[in-house]
Amino acid sequence: MRFVETEKLLSCVHCGLCLPSCPTYAELGTESDSPRGRILLMRSLEEGRLAPTDEVIAHLDGCLGCRACETACPSGVPYGSLIEAARPYLESRRSPTRRLARRALGALLTRRLPRRLTFSVVRALGGSRPAIALARALAATPFGPWLAYAAAAPPARPAAPLAARTEAEGAYRGTALYLTGCVAETLFPDTARATVALLARAGVRVLVPAEQGCCGALALHLGDASGAHSHARRLLGALDLHGVDWVLPSAAGCGAFLRELSQHLPGNPAAGALAERTRDPLSLLAELGLPPPRGRLDRTVAVHDPCHLVHAQGVRDEPRRLLRTVPGLTLVDLEESDFCCGSAGTYNVTEPAMAARLLDRKLERIVASGAEVVAAANPGCLLQIRAGAIARSLPVRVEHPLELLAAAHGLGGA
Ligand code: SF4
Ligand code: SF4
Repeated sequence: MRFVETEKLLSCVHCGLCLPSCPTYAELGTESDSPRGRILLMRSLEEGRLAPTDEVIAHLDGCLGCRACETACPSGVPYGSLIEAARPYLESRRSPTRRLARRALGALLTRRLPRRLTFSVVRALGGSRPAIALARALAATPFGPWLAYAAAAPPARPAAPLAARTEAEGAYRGTALYLTGCVAETLFPDTARATVALLARAGVRVLVPAEQGCCGALALHLGDASGAHSHARRLLGALDLHGVDWVLPSAAGCGAFLRELSQHLPGNPAAGALAERTRDPLSLLAELGLPPPRGRLDRTVAVHDPCHLVHAQGVRDEPRRLLRTVPGLTLVDLEESDFCCGSAGTYNVTEPAMAARLLDRKLERIVASGAEVVAAANPGCLLQIRAGAIARSLPVRVEHPLELLAAAHGLGGA
């Protein structure tokens, strides 16, 4: 069975230097739950020396796709593209019922109407005292995590949609297309508003195209490669890149996917043009710089590094550089700041047991840091860590760094 390029598999020299950086290996200590072990499993499947039993599939499903192993690997093994290539193969080995359930989850999150309907119920509960109390009271039951996610959602409140065009303030630096995404668009519209306002303050004209839709990253994560490619082609058809300097996605997973779009749609020149222009908004703002903030934030803040920002896009120092400009704000170190929190796309839904272990691990380190606020620049991480803090009654807030920054600049925000 050919599902992955042999040369990429063979680039692993089995040195094991990636093992300490792998969250699932750190938790389980088993070789088959490490990057090296998973590469060996993929190679054995590929060469037909191993059958895709439930046990083998479970070890590969257990991979978060966090790509921490890629950052650690001195041999440059492209682990992310290996596991992405294996996922459609694993999908084809599942029972029809499981496959259907995973497709339904993908459709729920990526199709606008069902997503908005579902999340409107969730946001009606978001931040409310009864939802928080219920999430805490039922924390030990199977409903507990779901109630905590609902309680962690930002409360719904009426707000105008994002303007299709926002002009730059001061000296013009360039034009950006802002991608509102799917989950981010529905659950975190305030982060989008903060991002656009900060970009305008940095001298960027921001265009928000209508009818963007999902980019395809979530479908790929669920092993639906053809669904991912058709989402991506639809997005390419909806965007006009003429005169556009940057394309800025609202979620780290979308950024990582779009920056590698020419690998997913080889020979498609529009995919290459989009990939070249894609940046994370934090990285662009850190490069362009902002005028000094007008206000101050007397808070102790720890930065959590979302996997697809730090490991897939190399954005690590930028949120810290931006937050350091805020008067009154004290940054503290967070141990294992670049370890996955367990959110990982849809991992917290499909692999809830390991997701809960990784969330516990993250929260322990947050408590040890002494931070009052955790800055997490990704919608999934925000929801995951916030839900965990609510369920455990921790006195810590979890905010997007751009909302903290917007608040310091008097532009709304946290
Ligand atoms: S992607 Fe993350 S979870 Fe998967 S093998 Fe690499 S480090 Fe481990
Ligand atoms: S993935 Fe890289 S670091 Fe890990 S065992 Fe293979 S060569 Fe070594």
